Amino acid sequence: MADIENKNLHVVFLPYFICSHMLPLLDVAILFATLGGLKVSVITTPHNAAIFQFTINERLKSGVQIAIHSLKFPSEQVDLPEGIENFSTVTSSEQYPKLKRAIGLLQKPMENLTRSLSPHCIFSDYFFPWSVDLALELKIPRLLFFPYNFFYHFTNKPYKKVVEPATESSSVCQLPRKLKLKRSRQPNQDITEASFEASFREQFKWSYGTVHNTFLEIEPTYANMYKKSICKRSWHIGPLFHLCGRKEVRISGDCNTSSVMNCLNWLDTQKAKSVVYVCFGSMVLLNDMQLTEIVLALKASSQPFVLVTKKSMPIPGVGDFEENNGIIITGWAPQIKILNHPAVGAFMTHCGWDSVLEAMVAGVPLITCPLFAEQFHNEKLIIQILGNGVEVGSEVCNFSPEIKSPVIGNDKIKKAVMRLMRGSFESEMIRRRAEEISVMAKRATEEGGSSYNDLMALIQEIKDCVVGKE
Ligand code: UDP
Repeated sequence: MADIENKNLHVVFLPYFICSHMLPLLDVAILFATLGGLKVSVITTPHNAAIFQFTINERLKSGVQIAIHSLKFPSEQVDLPEGIENFSTVTSSEQYPKLKRAIGLLQKPMENLTRSLSPHCIFSDYFFPWSVDLALELKIPRLLFFPYNFFYHFTNKPYKKVVEPATESSSVCQLPRKLKLKRSRQPNQDITEASFEASFREQFKWSYGTVHNTFLEIEPTYANMYKKSICKRSWHIGPLFHLCGRKEVRISGDCNTSSVMNCLNWLDTQKAKSVVYVCFGSMVLLNDMQLTEIVLALKASSQPFVLVTKKSMPIPGVGDFEENNGIIITGWAPQIKILNHPAVGAFMTHCGWDSVLEAMVAGVPLITCPLFAEQFHNEKLIIQILGNGVEVGSEVCNFSPEIKSPVIGNDKIKKAVMRLMRGSFESEMIRRRAEEISVMAKRATEEGGSSYNDLMALIQEIKDCVVGKE
């Protein structure tokens, strides 16, 4: 029993193949190993393993037990180019369904590998509903990882039997403040696979508990309501990147390209809090027209800017650097580093939850421009509850990261930029709120803070649960 309490208690992690899902779950694995002294195995594929390796290298040196197990990725079977093993490295829309199919093919190998590792606990992303049955078969607890906030669960309600009727706007029930989310801003529930909804309910029913990448101070009411009405055993342990001390997200080996180095040097020459940083996460594929409108708006606002785009230049209607008064990074930017640069004064974001958390820790106010999935819900939390941003006014939730919604005009974007950057009473209040949230986020992750304590409580609970079963 003493052995189990210490290094032999073995947890297998199953991260899903999206950067914003897999890196926070890897952070949990590192924290389980470093703070909890547990033996940890992570199951993934070779290219994702290379991304993980960068994050864990320093910890491995100190003798912490983290084993990364790589399964061959079935690229040829689905006709995907070698190296595309997660949604953040997709380069064209035809690759999405192929990648989904490949991930489906990995289920059996992942199950078999987990069985062979004989773990005491499985920690799974919610996109792997099949790990419920695996945990039941192995008679071990399964933890369910949601990389989002609690608020999302009240607006989306994926676990409820009844799907909201398709009215123009549906009121979000049970909430302390009555919030409305327009139908067009909700992910299209008519095409949400029914089987996925059902599997969601099963996951809640059969998982030992749920773990969330959020912190109590930004949503105490929703955290309480979640514990009371959805899942009693839930833990909030975010922002995970900060708790874990992760300073960067790398999806390829070299992040020191000349445009990145240019950008960092250029930021050093800019006035404090003057630069608008614009990035739509790791997956969004914006069309040329939308990109052009964004650049026109930034130019018209006369604010210096850094724009990150997955598209290669030239963007129609966009001139050179001097003319634009900004930097355009094509590909991957060191986002956490940029957000923490003193010159950055605002972040125009698609409201992906990791980006939002990174901005919160950095104390940077947001210009919200949600595009798909749960991002409109995150915007609502920012604008109506937290008050650390202004909205551009996106109206339509896309079905995938390939953006097909009506183009948002440069006038609308410019208005939002000016609202935050012009130094009004309103913008000062928003900026102050962003700074307060930064203090709360940092406190939550310090020893004795709410997220730190919840993480330690989670580790202890797993130990108690496993030891109790022996
Ligand atoms: N990211 C980055 N550089 C980029 C684009 C994205 O480092 O050029 C990171 C960003 O810091 C965040 C993650 O990728 O950690 C994106 O996660 P988010 O939840 O914001 O959006 P998603 O990619 O899931 O849409």
